[in-house]
Amino acid sequence: TKHFPVRKRGREALTRGRRSVQAVDDVDLVLRRGRVTALVGESGSGKSTVARLLAQLYPRTAGDIRLHGESVTVKGGKAFRAYCRKVQMIFQDPFASLNPVHTVRYHLTRALKIHDRAGTTAEDLERALQELLTRVQLTPPERYVDKFPHELSGGQRQRVAIARALGADPEALLADEPVSMLDVSIRLGVLNLLRDLKERLHLAILYITHDIASARYFADETLVMYAGRMVEGGDSETVTQNPAHPYTRLLIESAPDPDRLDPGTDAAPGEAPKEKGSGEPPSLIAPPSGCRFHPRCPVAMERCKTDLPPRFEVADAPGHWAACWLYDSAVRS
Ligand code: SF4
Ligand code: MG
Repeated sequence: TKHFPVRKRGREALTRGRRSVQAVDDVDLVLRRGRVTALVGESGSGKSTVARLLAQLYPRTAGDIRLHGESVTVKGGKAFRAYCRKVQMIFQDPFASLNPVHTVRYHLTRALKIHDRAGTTAEDLERALQELLTRVQLTPPERYVDKFPHELSGGQRQRVAIARALGADPEALLADEPVSMLDVSIRLGVLNLLRDLKERLHLAILYITHDIASARYFADETLVMYAGRMVEGGDSETVTQNPAHPYTRLLIESAPDPDRLDPGTDAAPGEAPKEKGSGEPPSLIAPPSGCRFHPRCPVAMERCKTDLPPRFEVADAPGHWAACWLYDSAVRS
């Protein structure tokens, strides 16, 4: 049976300062338990916005989020509160997400208490803390539980942030660039931990990254975003080995090394790698007409300048699609 814990559909506007920006548009994604979905794009593509919208951190202007088919768009309702527990977010910078004046014990206890999982006795709480730390492989737990964030390495801090998210007993994790600020040598360990948790706890994971090589390694399904729109999707093997959309091809060509979980030396942590192709990602305030990628696309056609391409099926694999006129069978046949 398939589970549909989270479904997000619709267009979103986002107000930054006094300007209203159509940050993401026509985003439609389904997270399923036991599966990692990667959302790949360069900085400014809107991928973090999608995560924050799903985490209910931004007010939405339109669209719908459903959990098990039930809409959770009404703030404060029972469904909304259940959603906020079941869908937990993990941020890019584990140092910023942990309060430096509080210990690991404080952070985890608070999460357990908020979600009513601390038990009634001191022993219950201690057991729950030990279990969380063991889950994220910070063992023995006694070594870590009374530490402050600055006494931990980046990787350990990110594990604490993951443990805190698990304190809510979630069904889905939204992980926004969870390893891009960590040393290359420990990225794999954290991704492997997330994969292990996905399997053992049957979690749905949204993995947001600029690094398409890591999506291939880590995600079951990969979605590619460009300028606030999803442009390609399918199983990760297909999308990364057999990319259909010209933008995905550009991303893969410009990835420094497909076998490394490393954005390369030309990119600062958290930044998209520099591209070989010309041009910059477009402004979301005034996105290009038609296909938003057309000013940079090496195979753009006349209609691409005016007509927005819908999602077309790509014939090579089931579920593989691209929002690109090259796959319009009405034209090809
Ligand atoms: Fe290029 Fe046209 Fe496809 Fe857009 S729709 S990616 S411009 S070929
Ligand atoms: Mg981001």
